[in-house]
Amino acid sequence: MKISMVDLGGQYLRLKDEIDAAVQDVCTKGTYINGAPVKIFCERLASCLEAPHVIPCGNGTDALRIALQTLRIGPENDVIVPSFTYIAPLEAVASVGASPVVVDVDPKSFNINPNLIERAITARTKAIIVVHLFGQSCDMEPIQRIADKYRLYIVEDNAQSLGASYMYSDGVSKKLGAIGIIGITSFFPTKPLACYGDGGALFTADSDLAEQIRLLANHGQTEKYHHKIIGCNSRLDTVQAAILNVKLNHLEAFNERRIRVADRYNHDLKSCPELVLPEKFPYSTHVYHQYTIRVLNNKRNTLKTYLAEKGIPSNIYYPLPVHEQEAYKWVARLSSHPNEAKKLCNEVLSLPIHTEMTNEMQTFIIESIQHFFSSRL
Ligand SMILES: *Cc1c(COP(=O)(O)O)cnc(C)c1O
Repeated sequence: MKISMVDLGGQYLRLKDEIDAAVQDVCTKGTYINGAPVKIFCERLASCLEAPHVIPCGNGTDALRIALQTLRIGPENDVIVPSFTYIAPLEAVASVGASPVVVDVDPKSFNINPNLIERAITARTKAIIVVHLFGQSCDMEPIQRIADKYRLYIVEDNAQSLGASYMYSDGVSKKLGAIGIIGITSFFPTKPLACYGDGGALFTADSDLAEQIRLLANHGQTEKYHHKIIGCNSRLDTVQAAILNVKLNHLEAFNERRIRVADRYNHDLKSCPELVLPEKFPYSTHVYHQYTIRVLNNKRNTLKTYLAEKGIPSNIYYPLPVHEQEAYKWVARLSSHPNEAKKLCNEVLSLPIHTEMTNEMQTFIIESIQHFFSSRL
């Protein structure tokens, strides 16, 4: 029994007939850039997310940078980012010359703490990048209230939570990615909706912004060989779009499979006294891109090693808060000290969770974790 963090090859074998047919169709037709599947995929994703415009691009990091450029964020601006995240949001902010201002996260949700945002706002602040980490939404209602009050843009980084929704207190629910002025996602192979290489997309309800995004991602080109603005080349290949068209049919089933795995972890691990299991908040659905536990009393690394010895992989997302990264410690500004992020970095451990996980595999993982704690009481 081989246990992996994510089993992409196994998933491919299950979908092989559909995927092979889609890829061969692209190969035969020969339109490898901007072929029909790209437009079809974007339209289908738009209707799934209830986001009027979906614009494809090369990857999620490009998507973030293009979003900031579209909103004309530059060297005079601050952009608020969470303390505990993948680095891409900070990279995007720095790449347009703006300053990332780091706001600490809530240790229970792993997401930006809305109560700490207001004190981080200055006259230079123009946007908040919210990252819906590990499959669950940020608490958007208070964040939107602050954004409205100070006229800030909200850019949603939805690379990890595609398919999840946020529930407002009046009962209205919205798909993540379609809440901010611009939302982005990544189709990197391990993400909830993934292709077999790099890919990304931007979402917006604003037609003018959609137009500007299209221009920026395509050499600033209005018609062939006429360049209105300085753009870049950031595209979703036709082959990747064809694969995504197949996978989009299964997105809900993929998310449900991971939710089932998470439900079992939640049930079977709740008796381990030194673990904090991921909390699910009533304002969000959770698609469990990661199943991330916190291991207390300094036992995280010993548990990780113990599991590795049994052939069970686990990962630390993320080992450092963003402001301690070598490249960003001089760039990122702190509004207050991100203590919670620091603590999380020492406690978090992500367990295997994926669409191909069998009951047997999970039983072995769970029993190994239970044994680790019972043998150390
Ligand atoms: C993966 C990821 C990205 C970047 O996506 P790429 O397609 O790899 O560039 C951005 N933000 C978050 C939160 C991610 O997890």
